[in-house]
Amino acid sequence: MKPCDFDYIRATSVAQVLELLGKSGGGAKILAGGQSLVAALNMRLSAPELLIDISGLEEMRGIEMVDGRLRIGATTCHADVQRSGLVVQHAPLLKSAMDHVAHAAIRNRGTHGGSIAFADPAAEIPACAVALDARFIIRNPDGERTVAARDFFHDLYETDMQENEILVAVEYPLGGPGDFVFFREFARRKGDFATAGLALHAERAGDRFKRLAPVFFGVANTPVLAEETAGILVNRPLTTVTLQAAQEALGNELNVIGDMYAGAGMKLHLAGYFLKQAIEEMINQA
Ligand code: FAD
Repeated sequence: MKPCDFDYIRATSVAQVLELLGKSGGGAKILAGGQSLVAALNMRLSAPELLIDISGLEEMRGIEMVDGRLRIGATTCHADVQRSGLVVQHAPLLKSAMDHVAHAAIRNRGTHGGSIAFADPAAEIPACAVALDARFIIRNPDGERTVAARDFFHDLYETDMQENEILVAVEYPLGGPGDFVFFREFARRKGDFATAGLALHAERAGDRFKRLAPVFFGVANTPVLAEETAGILVNRPLTTVTLQAAQEALGNELNVIGDMYAGAGMKLHLAGYFLKQAIEEMINQA
């Protein structure tokens, strides 16, 4: 299929994007790398009157340290995040995840902000943002607001962002010396979206978790921070009995939704297995 007719403007500033979004009254869409949106246009799942291309906005691109946080501009492409030394040093969980995001050609065009704004429930970056307790910097005609990643993903492809807003950057807290991170996913082929996955960030004290944020993706309509399961594992000896209790809690907590690639049972099995692998790795590293 071909997309419906639309107008196209290549934006030269964030201010211009906001003006165009405001004038369009909901009829415009932001185009970043086009790696998800163009497919949606071609299938006529989306039919905007105007596409506002933000791919040339240098003010929204780049990876830097700002006020003790790692800031990634929304139009930074996946390939730049994947090979960034700052990401390796300060957000190793994100670095591990980037190796699983799509294929090289897509990583050259697809953007950090686009992945978050699109909010595919099987995508790796939103799950890492939730696990790492990142925050999103959003601009609108009234100014700027900050939303915690943990409050941003509302439902399937539904986020906290409004039609007149643009995501300009993502800010990650810096990793510390006591950090433990674990990333694992199962996909039908390397580079595909995950059938199920786990992005886990923890702070450890010796052989125990002091804080734990296990985020499962590809299993429900949004990334899921499994807080009850984490509660069973924090400040406890990581024995077989504790693990069994955590896996049982996970089954109650996740509300897994099956899809065309895997049923809910298989996804839950993968989630429980990844949790077990994470704990084994934590014990081995202690
Ligand atoms: P676009 O496609 O341009 O936009 C996507 C949506 O986000 C649109 O609704 C757009 O309006 C909105 N948007 C974009 N930027 C902003 C912004 N700054 N502010 C507000 N709204 C914005 N992704 C994965 O995570 N894992 C995978 O394994 C994976 N595999 C893929 C395989 C294939 C074959 C393809 C084609 C894509 C795959 N992707 C995967 C998706 C890829 O990561 C895209 O980069 C990502 O979905 C975002 O695309 P984009 O940045 O090009 O944004």
